[in-house]
Amino acid sequence: MRVYEFQAKDILKTYSICVPRGRVVSVAGDARTAYKEIGGGRCVVKAQILAGGRGKSGGVRLVNSSEEAAACISNMLGSRLSTYQTNQESFEIKHVLLEEAVSIQKEFYLAITIDRSLQSLLLIVSAEGGVAIEEVAKKTPEKIFKEPVDLFFGLLPFQLRRITERLMIPAKLSGKVNELMEKLFSVFINKDCSLLEINPLVLTENNELVVLDAKMELDDNAIFRHPELEHIFEGQDIPPDEALAKKYGLSYIHLDGDIGCLVNGAGLAMATMDSIKLCGGEPANFLDVGGNASLEQVTQAFKIILSDRKVKTVFINIFGGIMKCDVIAEGVIRVVKEADIHIPFIVRLEGTNVDLAREILDDSGLKIISAGNMKDAAHFAVKASKGEYINQ
Ligand code: GDP
Ligand code: MN
Repeated sequence: MRVYEFQAKDILKTYSICVPRGRVVSVAGDARTAYKEIGGGRCVVKAQILAGGRGKSGGVRLVNSSEEAAACISNMLGSRLSTYQTNQESFEIKHVLLEEAVSIQKEFYLAITIDRSLQSLLLIVSAEGGVAIEEVAKKTPEKIFKEPVDLFFGLLPFQLRRITERLMIPAKLSGKVNELMEKLFSVFINKDCSLLEINPLVLTENNELVVLDAKMELDDNAIFRHPELEHIFEGQDIPPDEALAKKYGLSYIHLDGDIGCLVNGAGLAMATMDSIKLCGGEPANFLDVGGNASLEQVTQAFKIILSDRKVKTVFINIFGGIMKCDVIAEGVIRVVKEADIHIPFIVRLEGTNVDLAREILDDSGLKIISAGNMKDAAHFAVKASKGEYINQ
């Protein structure tokens, strides 16, 4: 789960990590008081959305007076912001973070993530931090350094020295770098993060290290271990499709492709996505209806898939064990008829009541392409997503 910048900074503050003084404003009327509370002067107004790239899209603005702050905040609140990181969507700005402006001497990039192939944490640093980090990564990848960090030993002294060097921070400030690193790693481990990205980390004119922006992702599976973060989890905006999935007990994850997937069983769902990728397509979602879905759950699952306007075809891959294939078939027909859908459905059914299911589908008169096995089905789905003719 991604958290807002102000929430991430609140968490960092509990570890006495230095962040600019700030106030969250959710109602325009509170802007002037907030401005006064942080001491006035030069401030930054930052739109709080669950995506980065705000600096390049007008989501981070400098203001110099109470009037300017109030005007900027009232403009931002309630408006929508899209950035190069929002995938052509836009997010409503429900909160802004008003912060004292920091005078920057240098911007750095720093991130902690999990490297599954190395089975360790991975620290990524660059002396070229700031809004152009993606370009740095593309054009001069040698300026981005990766340092695997052993979970058991943590950051070792030689690694800390190397980090200071790579960030090109003067050696006399290495004590500050070390202290910050230790604290950031403690946050990452203690709060069960899956990502903690600080971009930029800045060196101020006064030679202080300040976290100017923070992107934090918490592991959903560890929520139960963090009663202290309950307010964050509860107040979280869940996208409508995910909220619906949760309500009906479906495991659903939205992805960026155009092939909707309806599958029973997490393993089969993973294999389905792999087959799609192998055939050159892109799945639009992960959706596991579970081993024993009801007609209602199947119907809702389809609705969730079809609410994604990118979806060009739906790949239904069901292995009927406890789940009965005819229930799925009924669900397909119900949704397709109700919603007047014209995209092709690729269906691969196997297992309990499969013959009955095929009969139901054949008799429906709908445009449904049946595949005899998973490989064919994946091929058909990819072809359908590209608008190509399917030769069965
Ligand atoms: P992002 O674009 O969504 O990642 O938003 P950031 O919080 O990283 O802000 C983008 C850029 O705005 C930063 O890289 C800074 O260059 C600039 N910025 C943000 N806060 C301040 C500030 O307090 N002072 C100054 N001078 N620049 C700032
Ligand atoms: Mn940033």
